Amino acid sequence: MQKNWQYKWNLNGVELKAEISPCSWMYDNYGTQLSVTEPNGAVTYPIVKIPFESVLETDLITLCNTVELVKCNKCNNLTFKDPKSNRKGDCEVCFMKEMNIELEKIQKKQDIKLKKQTQKMIKQGFIYHAIVSAYPINGGDDIILDIWFKEEPTKQIIANTLKKSKLTVCNYQVVKEV
Ligand SMILES: [Zn+2]
Repeated sequence: MQKNWQYKWNLNGVELKAEISPCSWMYDNYGTQLSVTEPNGAVTYPIVKIPFESVLETDLITLCNTVELVKCNKCNNLTFKDPKSNRKGDCEVCFMKEMNIELEKIQKKQDIKLKKQTQKMIKQGFIYHAIVSAYPINGGDDIILDIWFKEEPTKQIIANTLKKSKLTVCNYQVVKEV
């Protein structure tokens, strides 16, 4: 079977597209797995216990025909019938909407926390708020830090402050809070 095999079909008015998952040839005894997508981004992964080396197009089309669509729990959209999915019967649109609400809540909480901390620092005379992006000297992902100073810090001062934590300054912005 070609690794780039693709198949498109219409199920209950929804245009579906199937491709072969790389797991099918990356792992032994995995079988052949498809990733089937809806235009709104929802994905399901039907699998058949036939090795990728010997799977035929008819097997793959049979596998595509096992895909079922059901009505979303919350709206009229159709979504994959997939008990293993973390979408729990919600369509991709409803799932993303709910996830964005959750993310906004987290963001709001963080904003409140930062505001409180800034007020506390101002009371102690630390009126310069440096927002610094830095990366670990020993490797790793960038991190964002909030550091407060009594006097306007130069890049050197910020760098010296971070050196103790084994961090290198990548970029920074200083805000005078009062
Ligand atoms: Zn929905």
